[in-house]
Amino acid sequence: MADEGMQSWKTLALGCAMTEPGSSKRFNTGDWRSGRRPVTDREKCIKCGKCYILCPDMCYSPDPEAEGYYLWDSFYCKGCGICIHECPKDAISWQDEKEEDTHGAACGS
Ligand code: SF4
Ligand code: SF4
Repeated sequence: MADEGMQSWKTLALGCAMTEPGSSKRFNTGDWRSGRRPVTDREKCIKCGKCYILCPDMCYSPDPEAEGYYLWDSFYCKGCGICIHECPKDAISWQDEKEEDTHGAACGS
């Protein structure tokens, strides 16, 4: 029985096919969050950068107005909780999502 529209593995090119490099930037993985978001308490933060390094969606970026601290991006945060789990000072915790938590909102705000 032939699968219409399916290619045989023998005819596929080796490796993956990236038809549009950089397209993941448009994926709103923040859509996956369900009612809560991570919030940083800067009083507890020791600026170690683990949240920045370990977030799988690169939601944290250096705060240009406060050296060593990070900004959080709601557009990409899927709410996995890795940053909360990995923060050595328990400086990040869940908070109920608010209407004003939009793209680019600062952590600790
Ligand atoms: S992991 Fe915690 S202590 Fe380290 S920079 Fe992020 S918020 Fe601050
Ligand atoms: S909850 Fe997950 S996706 Fe969101 S900022 Fe933390 S590590 Fe990144």
